[in-house]
Amino acid sequence: MSSTKISVNSNTCIASGQCALTAPSVFTQDDDGFGTVLPGREDGAGDPLVREAVRACPAQAIEFSEA
Ligand code: SF4
Repeated sequence: MSSTKISVNSNTCIASGQCALTAPSVFTQDDDGFGTVLPGREDGAGDPLVREAVRACPAQAIEFSEA
């Protein structure tokens, strides 16, 4: 059984918004445009678009780990 943990590094995020556009079931943007993971979706919700969002992020700010 693997578990996935997704987070956005707020130090490197440049508020471009691609994550929320690419995988809106997992990511949103805060009031300042920075990417955030929706509450309860830190496991990626089984959404294959998360991997696309990781690739699409221009700042490599999405941290994705599988344990
Ligand atoms: S795509 Fe990356 S840089 Fe853009 S808002 Fe999302 S986490 Fe931040």
